[in-house]
Amino acid sequence: MRILVCGGAGYIGAHMCKILAENGFAVTVFDNLSTGFKKNVRWGKLICGDLLDQAAIDTCLNQEPFDAVMHFSALAIVSDSITQPGKYYENNVTGTLNLLSAMARHGVDKFIFSSTAAVYGSPETTTITEETTVNPATPYGASKWMAERILKDFEIAHKIRSVIFRYFNAAGAEPAGQIGEDHDPETHLIPNILQSLNGKDNNKLNIFGNDYPTPDGTCIRDYIHVNDICQAHLSALTYLQNGGQSDCFNIGNGNGFSILEVIAAVERVTGKKVEYEIKARREGDPAILVANSDKLKQRLNWQPEFTELDQIIETAWRYYCR
Ligand code: UDP
Repeated sequence: MRILVCGGAGYIGAHMCKILAENGFAVTVFDNLSTGFKKNVRWGKLICGDLLDQAAIDTCLNQEPFDAVMHFSALAIVSDSITQPGKYYENNVTGTLNLLSAMARHGVDKFIFSSTAAVYGSPETTTITEETTVNPATPYGASKWMAERILKDFEIAHKIRSVIFRYFNAAGAEPAGQIGEDHDPETHLIPNILQSLNGKDNNKLNIFGNDYPTPDGTCIRDYIHVNDICQAHLSALTYLQNGGQSDCFNIGNGNGFSILEVIAAVERVTGKKVEYEIKARREGDPAILVANSDKLKQRLNWQPEFTELDQIIETAWRYYCR
């Protein structure tokens, strides 16, 4: 089977390409390299192109018969989406629409979509199921929700079946340390904590808010290892290949950790002290996001391998040290 991985030069996409290749799939990456890196494309061939360029997608889909498309390409910095909504809607909604339209033209009928817990906004419940009301609070969350909605119509009109994964906080790196989380600028908590350990003043860790309604006042998130996310995608591929119907799944570990708890875990794993400063809240951050992933476990027979926060951080640290 040949899989088109849109966004395969990015953090999660690159891990996916590795796992696909290890499982005998042929991989083609379509990526505009805006946030991803050419060096990450090691397990398939790279076609440089943008999802806003219909002709480029057509050229890509003309090259080979693809069995399925995985779509990781997106702008994903929540606070940026608030200041640049047009850019986020164009990239995340129009880009996905262009990709689906091209798939319809070329008869590719299986799609795996990277969505986000941000579609839920700031839910009242602390553990979120797929039945929790969708109510995105930011353009980023709304852009992903709109793309999810579009998928329903493309299934009716063009028979494209899809699996949607709503990611909680992707974290860690593949254990061999070849690839890992590497954004520029880096906005995510775990890599920022690790970077702060090098003692340079401009890398000092900021904690965005300690006045949230949580036990220690800092935000609580559900950290899920990047390889566990990719294994779920692999299961989804088999599921769609066997005729499975379109569906949507949360993907998280089911345990929430506050920022201070993540810092304590980094200190345990690295043996180093994390220095930080408390800053104002970051716009768009809900207090608590924790997944219930029972549906994924039951329907796709998925189990996370990296269940402990320390294990996840160990892999991120190994990559960082390399
Ligand atoms: N965060 C922080 N300092 C940082 C990066 C993140 O305090 O340098 C906080 C952020 O405000 C949020 C949590 O850590 O409450 C997780 O943020 P991240 O950007 O990693 O993921 P998100 O939950 O926004 O997808």
